[in-house]
Amino acid sequence: MNEGGSYFTKGHTMTATLETISKDTFNVHQNNQIKNDSGKENEDGYKLSTEIKMDIDRLYEVVPQLSKHFFIEDKIGEGTFSSVYLATAQLKSRIVEKFALKHLIPTSHPVRIAAELQCLTVAGGQDNVMGVKYCLRKDDHVVIVMPYLEHESFLDLLSSMKLEEVREYMYNLLKALRRIHHFGIIHRDIKPSNFLYNGRLKKYALVDFGLAQGTPDTKIELLKIVKTEDQQGSCSKNKPTTSYGNKLPNTVTMSNQHIAGKLPIKRPWPLSQAKHGKGESSVPRSVFGERNLNVRSTGIFEGASVKLVKPTKTADITSRKIIVAKRKITSKGNTSGLVRKPVICPSNLTCDCYTTDRVCSVCLSRRQQVAPRAGTPGFRAPEVLMKCPHQTSAIDMWSAGVVFLSLLSARYPFFKASDDLTALAQIMTIRGSKETIQAAKSFGKSLSCSKECPKLDLRTLCERLRGTDCLNKRKSSQKSEPVEFSRITGSVPGPDIKVDEKKEKVDFLTHKRELHSQPKKVKQDIQWDSDFKSIARSSDRKGWNRVPDLAYELLDKLLDLNPATRITAERALKHPFFEGM
Ligand code: ADP
Ligand code: MG
Ligand code: ZN
Repeated sequence: MNEGGSYFTKGHTMTATLETISKDTFNVHQNNQIKNDSGKENEDGYKLSTEIKMDIDRLYEVVPQLSKHFFIEDKIGEGTFSSVYLATAQLKSRIVEKFALKHLIPTSHPVRIAAELQCLTVAGGQDNVMGVKYCLRKDDHVVIVMPYLEHESFLDLLSSMKLEEVREYMYNLLKALRRIHHFGIIHRDIKPSNFLYNGRLKKYALVDFGLAQGTPDTKIELLKIVKTEDQQGSCSKNKPTTSYGNKLPNTVTMSNQHIAGKLPIKRPWPLSQAKHGKGESSVPRSVFGERNLNVRSTGIFEGASVKLVKPTKTADITSRKIIVAKRKITSKGNTSGLVRKPVICPSNLTCDCYTTDRVCSVCLSRRQQVAPRAGTPGFRAPEVLMKCPHQTSAIDMWSAGVVFLSLLSARYPFFKASDDLTALAQIMTIRGSKETIQAAKSFGKSLSCSKECPKLDLRTLCERLRGTDCLNKRKSSQKSEPVEFSRITGSVPGPDIKVDEKKEKVDFLTHKRELHSQPKKVKQDIQWDSDFKSIARSSDRKGWNRVPDLAYELLDKLLDLNPATRITAERALKHPFFEGM
């Protein structure tokens, strides 16, 4: 569709050759602009909000060639780094096809954008990984055109999915992960909103490679560059870097202006809240994750609005008794050999503050360890939360485990934390503090926790949260070990969570209350009343009162605290839970 074989508009300096892009051509859509201006309704006949209409007009304005091919119907997603629109286009064959247009924020780093595109073109289009059709660019505005997959909101899914459907969902997610890991892509942001699911069509698609990184042997050329760049560390985040020009493969070339001038802030540093120059006042938004416009938000942790707060180092560390301490760095370097870049700290000064609830001035003056930590806190693997600099595709497997945990317990989001230490505390309450400390040791981190909390039995936890534990008890008269959920939160260093992040405390207590109240409520109904019967019947139909041990065994392997032993996608697909698939 673009002139001259380039999928970026001719005459601009950034070009990309995307060999795998479909060669479909379009008929030019007449009067798109007019339709959009005058027609206030989209295809489905409902009115677009003024705000969305303005966004759509703005997009036509900044990428004018869009109007030649597409009719933008609606905005379907808005994240920190992009807005996604539903558009239709009439192909030469006269068939009208739906597309998802991802408009990336203009401040994204050009290499970042190109890497996202390369992930889609090289690994996408197969095995549940989203492919790409076209890419359009005008100046620093890039629009990635993908096939549109209509999908359900995860919250709706949670309440309606049968166990068998969950099994299929996980199988297909793992299939996508096997594919991208085969290409040496670490997605880094595996979560339900990045894995689209259409139950009716039984279609799945892993999207959003905006945070992806490469393994050392990645087959995605541009991820090699992205990686190098990220490892250059946080200190360079606002400095223009001049080293891209000669490092870029010839598929992407950039103007000097891009290289030396206003270097866009790279994606892992989302402090730029620049909003496409839309003139919106900068509303503070969560740094992490995105707003899916088709998702109702009714999560158990929802309610308190999360403000964009960049925790100061002091507040972040001193306010808790959980301390992720760097192991004393001796001249021999890190004992585990995993930390490739030792943290530079006052070389002749050591301290023991990691055994106390204080952080001493020596430690406060240490440079923060640089490690990739992009993603969404509730889905981050322990090694990410603890800033382990050597991270592998195992981090995606952990996130898949968190998704599975949500599906089995019918709770979403399962972990909700806006900072790493709270997220880590929540993991410890489920997976055990001793176990977490042990795992931390294996990747060269020393972690201490003021209270011990035992590892919870996953079946008991999920059944309690789902409310099927009592059903099962009645059916099988098997006595299941009651969970002392007070221990869950009791073991999160109690007084320490009181700290500054009041919201986290509220959230976590909400969870605790739910864990307490739900089973109690059912217990009160000693009589087998009709409500209860219908719950039992529907659980029965959906298979939730006979979840096989194999499901929890797989969950346990995905949520392995130690990345070195955590199950891979390849192996997980062969797990007996998926027998017969
Ligand atoms: P971001 O980087 O802003 O998170 P994503 O690529 O994750 O952007 O897209 C945001 C949302 O847009 C997704 O959660 C999904 O709801 C929707 N979306 C993205 N790509 C598609 C697609 N190909 N088909 C349908 N919806 C899509
Ligand atoms: Mg996303
Ligand atoms: Zn110290």
